[in-house]
Amino acid sequence: MVVGDFAIELDTVVIGSGPGGYVAAIRAAEMGQKVAVVERGAIGGVCLNVGCIPSKALITAGHRFHEAQSSEVFGVTAKDVEIDFSKTQEWKDKQVVAKLTGGVKMLLKKHKVEILEGEAYFVDEHTLRVMHPDSAQTYTFNNAIIATGSRPIEIKGFKFGGRVLDSTGALNLKEIPKHLVVIGGGYIGSELAGAYANMGSKVTILEGLDSILSNFDKDMVKIVVDNFKKKGVDIHTSAMAKEAKETDKSVSVTYEVDGKAETIDADYVLVTVGRRPNTDDMGLDTLHLDMTDRGLIKVDEQGRTSVPSIWAIGDVVPGLALAHKASYEAKIAAEAISGKKVAVDYRAMPAVCFTDPELASVGLTEKEAKDKGLDVKVSKFPLAGNGRALSLNQTEGFVRLVTTKEDNSIVGAQFAGVNASDVIAELGLAVESGMNAEDLALTIHAHPSLAETVMDDAELALGLPIHV
Ligand code: FAD
Repeated sequence: MVVGDFAIELDTVVIGSGPGGYVAAIRAAEMGQKVAVVERGAIGGVCLNVGCIPSKALITAGHRFHEAQSSEVFGVTAKDVEIDFSKTQEWKDKQVVAKLTGGVKMLLKKHKVEILEGEAYFVDEHTLRVMHPDSAQTYTFNNAIIATGSRPIEIKGFKFGGRVLDSTGALNLKEIPKHLVVIGGGYIGSELAGAYANMGSKVTILEGLDSILSNFDKDMVKIVVDNFKKKGVDIHTSAMAKEAKETDKSVSVTYEVDGKAETIDADYVLVTVGRRPNTDDMGLDTLHLDMTDRGLIKVDEQGRTSVPSIWAIGDVVPGLALAHKASYEAKIAAEAISGKKVAVDYRAMPAVCFTDPELASVGLTEKEAKDKGLDVKVSKFPLAGNGRALSLNQTEGFVRLVTTKEDNSIVGAQFAGVNASDVIAELGLAVESGMNAEDLALTIHAHPSLAETVMDDAELALGLPIHV
C-alpha cells in the first residue's frame, strides 16, 4: 500500500456524492471554499444510480407498456404489444442514469470541486484518510460534511443474493418476473411493485402493518390499493415474512398471517423493509459523535454534529430519508460553514410516492395539525371535477387543503392523483410562504390544468366553490 506521507489541506471535505454530498460540495465551492468530495462508489449516490432516478425510469416504462395495452377508451388499440426489457434497461442505464451522473461530474468539475475516489475514514476531527485498495492519502480539513447515505436492511431468513433482491437488485433485473413478491409496502416497495405490475408481472405485496404506505392518509392509500387490485396485485397486510427458500428457478416465500403459515412461489422476492444509515466503518467512534440508537447522527438546525468541525446531512441524520431533504440540508450546512446565518425549516417538506396514482403531501395532515393543537378544517376537491383530469382519463383522486379556521392559513395539503409530484410544488410554496386560501383562490390558474383543482379547493375552503 502506498501511503501519502504528507497531508493535503482542504477547507471543506464532503463524504459521499449523493444528492446531499454533491449539492453541499457545489454550494460550499460557490461560497469560495476549497472543497473535495470523497466517493467510494458511483458519483450521484443512491438517488441517481440505484434510487430515485432509475426507479422512475422503470415506472415510466411500465406506464408506456400498460397504456399501449389499455387505451381502447380513446379508440386506440394496439396488437401484439411487447416489451424488450433489455432495451428498457439499456435506456435507463445509458440515457437516464449515465447522462445525469455525467452531468453531476461536470458540475463538480466546473465548480473546481476535487473528486477523491475511495473510502473515507476519520482519523480525528480535522483529519481524514481516503483509502483505495492500493493507496491511501491523508487530508486535513477545517470542516467535514458526512453525506454517506444509507443502504437496504436485510431481514432474517432473506439473505440478499440470487432470487432475494434488495431495491438495487430489483432495479437491475435482466428479465421481468412472472411473479414478484414484495416484502414491505412502503414507498420503495409500492413503487417497484407498481412498475413491475404495469410491465406484466403478477405481484404480491406482504406488509407487516395493517396498511401499505402507512405514512399517507388512509383515503389516499385506498385509491392506490384499488388501482393495485385492478391490476391483479395481491396485498396481504399484517403479514410477517418468515423465510425464503430458493431453488434454481424459483423462490418459496413463507409468511404468517393470524398465526397461520402460508407459502407463495415466485421468481423473485424483493425485500424493502427500510434502510440503515452508513455510519459504521468510517471511524466515527473515534470522534465520539452523539448518535441516535438507530445509528443516525444527531445534528443541530444547521447540520452541525456534537463535534464542531463535523457536519452531517441526508439519510445519515434523523427525518425523512428523501433526496430533496438531503439537498436542502446540504445547502444549509454548506452555507453555515461559509459563515451565513441559516437554519433548517422543514415546514414545507414534501413527500411523494410515485404509485398509480401518485400520492403527495406537504406540511401537516389534518391529524398532525390537530395533534399540534391547531384549530383547522379541511376541504377536499375531487379530480373528477377537473377538465384536465377528465381529458387525461385519470380522474381518480383529490386535493385536500388543511387550513386554520381563524384565517384560512394553509398549514398542509395532500394531493392524490396523476402528476401529484408536480402539483404539490404549488402547495409547498403556499405552506412555505404562509399563504392563505384566498391567495390561492385569487391566483389565476391556467386552464385546463390539474393545478386548477388547487384553486377550486381554495374556493371550497372559503365557502365559495364554483365546481362542486
Ligand atoms: P446517498 O444518495 O445514499 O449517497 C451516499 C454516497 O456516499 C454513496 O454514493 C456512497 O457510495 C457514499 N459513501 C458511503 N460511505 C462512504 C465512505 N466511507 N467513503 C466514501 N463514500 C462513501 N428519494 C426521493 O426523494 N424521491 C424518490 O423518488 C426516491 N426514490 C427512491 C427509490 C429507491 C429505489 C431508493 C433506494 C431510494 C429512493 N429515494 C428517493 C431515497 C433517496 O435515494 C435518498 O434519500 C438519497 O439518495 C439520500 O441522499 P444522501 O446524499 O444522503 O445519500
